Amino acid sequence: MAKTYDVVVIGGGPAGYVAAIRCAQLGLETACVEKWINFKGDPALGGTCLNVGCIPSKTLLESSEQYHHIKDGIANHGIHVEGVRLDLDQMMARKEDIVLQLTNGISALFKANGVEWLQGHGKLLANRQVEITGHDGVVDVVSADNVIIATGSRPIDIGAAPVDNAEGLIVDSTGALDFRQVPATLGVIGAGVIGLELGSVWSRLGSKVIVLEAVEDFLSLVDQQIARDALRQFRKQGMDIHMGARVIATRKTANGVEVHFKDKDGDHEIMVEKLLVSVGRRPNTDDVAAPESGLLFGERGYIHVDEHCATNLPGVYAVGDVVRGPMLAHKGSEEGVMVAEIIAGQPGHLNYDTIPWVIYTSPEIAWVGKTEQALKAEGIPYKIGSFPFSANGRAKAMDHANGMVKLLAHAETDTLLGCHIIGPFASELVQEAVLAMEFNASSEDLARTIHGHPTLYEAMHEAALSVHGRALHKINT
Ligand code: FAD
Ligand code: AMP
Repeated sequence: MAKTYDVVVIGGGPAGYVAAIRCAQLGLETACVEKWINFKGDPALGGTCLNVGCIPSKTLLESSEQYHHIKDGIANHGIHVEGVRLDLDQMMARKEDIVLQLTNGISALFKANGVEWLQGHGKLLANRQVEITGHDGVVDVVSADNVIIATGSRPIDIGAAPVDNAEGLIVDSTGALDFRQVPATLGVIGAGVIGLELGSVWSRLGSKVIVLEAVEDFLSLVDQQIARDALRQFRKQGMDIHMGARVIATRKTANGVEVHFKDKDGDHEIMVEKLLVSVGRRPNTDDVAAPESGLLFGERGYIHVDEHCATNLPGVYAVGDVVRGPMLAHKGSEEGVMVAEIIAGQPGHLNYDTIPWVIYTSPEIAWVGKTEQALKAEGIPYKIGSFPFSANGRAKAMDHANGMVKLLAHAETDTLLGCHIIGPFASELVQEAVLAMEFNASSEDLARTIHGHPTLYEAMHEAALSVHGRALHKINT
């Protein structure tokens, strides 16, 4: 007889491990199947996010930002530092240590909450049975009243640039988080979030970074006023960003990689020491369900789900990168919580309209809600309020006074519809707008909220005041 659980979660990334912990908190007997083997050769929880995504990338972004600041930014404060030296081995060791601390932390949380970790590859069979192939090849089958699929995503490959992380010449994000020397030149295919973040890391550490992006619009998902400012600032920092440049072929040579691309002026060829392919991610669904399970897939391999993450099969749910919606860790985690609560008989709900997005470049870019271009396309009447960090005392003191806060509010009801920030700690500031929008606040509500002085949050306050032409620290136009 197969062992039976209330819930079996397949995948232990931020969507799956959070779902498993919440299920256990709600008194459900829960197991999580996870197959990840980390850089030390050990089984690990945490998925892409903790092992090769959010956490190692933010760690290197922070380290490289500090290096760059001490080397080139701090003199402006009247502090002169000599003999600054980069120890890349130590920077990488610190990153690995943080990854291990956090992934081991998830395993401790599993133990504390009574979640059983079934190590190996999980596959949904018919009637909510799950087959687990252990790392030693031994196959077991368990049964569950409910199954949550959270198998995540992986980088998209393009034939023009085959990735080989072990060789280290043409790499994906995992390879680019692990260079052991700073490449003199780094080519980046794709000016998306991952390409820009990892391009920033190596640019700050000294690489000449050349970004090739097939489409003409820079960061098309971002409010275009903010995106234009970002492009200008990144180019000023020395990133060589080519828009409308489609990579058609690559060739490895003794000196690096020859990259062939096409743009409106014709065919071009550049030589780079290393090449990062960051052209998006796709769901891990190749071997997640046996055909007899009857699981329905949608476009491009995503698992088909409704707004509550229920699949076509009763008692089977899917959450995180493996289903529609933004590929963001917190989106997957909140879906995991929603599904756990639904399984426990509670009214699970997720407000997809208030998911914050962040790009951890310098300056950071963060937003929530609708962009101006989306409001125009949908014919929704809106008002804009904005405030530049150049007029914010705290940003000046920090020497990070580039960028702005832009708020969009409904022209008739004044309800906040969107918040778009480029500037210092945008990732943190945006959360004020997320909370405000979650409570259906108006720009007037933000404008009447007291903000401490001097803080970066005053830029949010002033942007809210400016929606109705009452900003106090800029000239209202
Ligand atoms: P994953 O994290 O991919 O986890 C899925 C897990 O399932 C994996 O551990 C995998 O081993 C396991 N698995 C797959 N198939 C099976 C199977 N059949 N059996 C058993 N186990 C299986 N998002 C943010 O919100 N903020 C960021 O700053 C951010 N930065 C990123 C930086 C990089 C470089 C990358 C690559 C991604 C980044 N992301 C970021 C995206 C974020 O990592 C993903 O959105 C998030 O990890 C998705 O979580 P998930 O649980 O759905 O999938
Ligand atoms: P994202 O999905 O946000 O990670 O962004 C990936 C980016 O890669 C998209 O903007 C694509 O237009 C871009 N892209 C995909 N294929 C190519 C290619 N062959 N050459 C250049 N850019 C590409």
